[in-house]
Amino acid sequence: MSYTTPAEAMQALRAVEAKQWALSHAMNMIVYDAATAAPKNTAEGRGHTLGILSEYMYGLIADPENQALLSYLRENESALSFEEKREVELMKKTCDQLSRIPQEEYTEYEMLLNDAQTVWEKAKNENDFPAFAPYLEKIVAFNRKFAGYYNPDLLPYDALLNEYEEGVTMEILDAFFEKLRAAIVPLVEKIRRAKPIDDGFLHRHFPADAQKKCAEYLMEVLKIDRGYCGLAESEHPFTDNFNNKDVRITTHFYENNLASALYSVIHEGGHAIYELACDDKYTRTALAGGVSMGIHESQSRFFENIIGRSKPFVFAVYPQIRAFFPETLADVSAEDFYRAVNKAEPSLIRTEADELTYCLHIMVRYELEKRLIAGTLSVSELPAEWNRLYKEYLGVDVPDDTRGCLQDTHWSGGSFGYFPSYALGSAYGAQMLWAMKKDLGDLTERLARADLTDVKAWLAEHIHRHASLYQPSVLLENACGAFDPDHYVRYLTEKFTALYGLSLQD
Ligand code: ZN
Repeated sequence: MSYTTPAEAMQALRAVEAKQWALSHAMNMIVYDAATAAPKNTAEGRGHTLGILSEYMYGLIADPENQALLSYLRENESALSFEEKREVELMKKTCDQLSRIPQEEYTEYEMLLNDAQTVWEKAKNENDFPAFAPYLEKIVAFNRKFAGYYNPDLLPYDALLNEYEEGVTMEILDAFFEKLRAAIVPLVEKIRRAKPIDDGFLHRHFPADAQKKCAEYLMEVLKIDRGYCGLAESEHPFTDNFNNKDVRITTHFYENNLASALYSVIHEGGHAIYELACDDKYTRTALAGGVSMGIHESQSRFFENIIGRSKPFVFAVYPQIRAFFPETLADVSAEDFYRAVNKAEPSLIRTEADELTYCLHIMVRYELEKRLIAGTLSVSELPAEWNRLYKEYLGVDVPDDTRGCLQDTHWSGGSFGYFPSYALGSAYGAQMLWAMKKDLGDLTERLARADLTDVKAWLAEHIHRHASLYQPSVLLENACGAFDPDHYVRYLTEKFTALYGLSLQD
């Protein structure tokens, strides 16, 4: 050991963190390239390189010197600042994550996931759940076991949830989802009886070239500095943050669906805005970058839905959007466009769901995951339960497993406990809007000019700049009080009641 004081030990830790960031920069860049630019037959060499880089990463993080360093720092915690303590805590978590699963089990699991991915894709394409079921059974069993390694003091599913959103439990989620369900299900029912919204024009032909220009325009509206943020194309939209000065987002242009790319650019743009506004002082440390999935989704969904699908904002940007497709949208007014991009209709596919019914899709998955991990639902019962819950929550009949329980990639990828973050993020966002309006006053006029300066400044001040310094619940509480899903329920109820001309009483 080459440190004699806590300050020196912190320096030694920073050196490890900097190397860790450099390695993940290289690895993420390769993965990003694979999704955006690499020719299709190049996977082999990439796999080889990634394998070696992961070994380096493992060696760097699992180095016993690190454990000694972290123990020393924890023993001398009183000499550390608040920020340093959190940094040590997060690094300890990263190191523990690597060592908590026995190496041979980890390798076996990685191989299982690798096979499961291919089997799932085929099963999804061929509507063949029984082919995927044995893999899913093993993945569930592994996750139940891993939950005990992650945190033996928690119930297994709570331990898994905690991996994605620190501090969130089934108790919190049960109450949250119950409240949402009680508000959304009757609202969706009323909308079903209301006059339907016509969104057919969104599926006319929109050439990709013009859509690209439109996407660039939206990046300008979001005031995302293109010197620090790339926009590329991939099969599925995503955001990759190499550091707070280099973020890449992607989209996918469907020529028969205008809203898809427009709103995915705003969504991923929201992720990018968060990463780019993290304070420089945390760069290349464990405190860098967004703190959790839930907080990240709160930002992307805030820009996509709360801002991007709000009436004043749509009215502000629509004339420019229409100018990219003057003939195709000649007969479409801003009001028509606003209504179409907000059309609420129960559907089968989560990723295509509207703002209102989206959370119902999450609730189905939450219920099922909870029971799968608790062992009260078997994998063979999954398709029937999935279909039953879709009928109960969304009122739709699931015609096949392809459009049912095989639709998402999460379970084949081993992610249990991830889905609820999407719903939490939406609810956090509505609460932030409420707090923001208390500080800034009504936003209508600013949005009507598509001026996001104050909105972005508020989020940067209360959320973004803090990067990973605070636990999600603490960050939220500091910004806008303890988590309260009523804000979200109120936001949805008001928005969709007005949109569909419903009465609040009936
Ligand atoms: Zn997202």
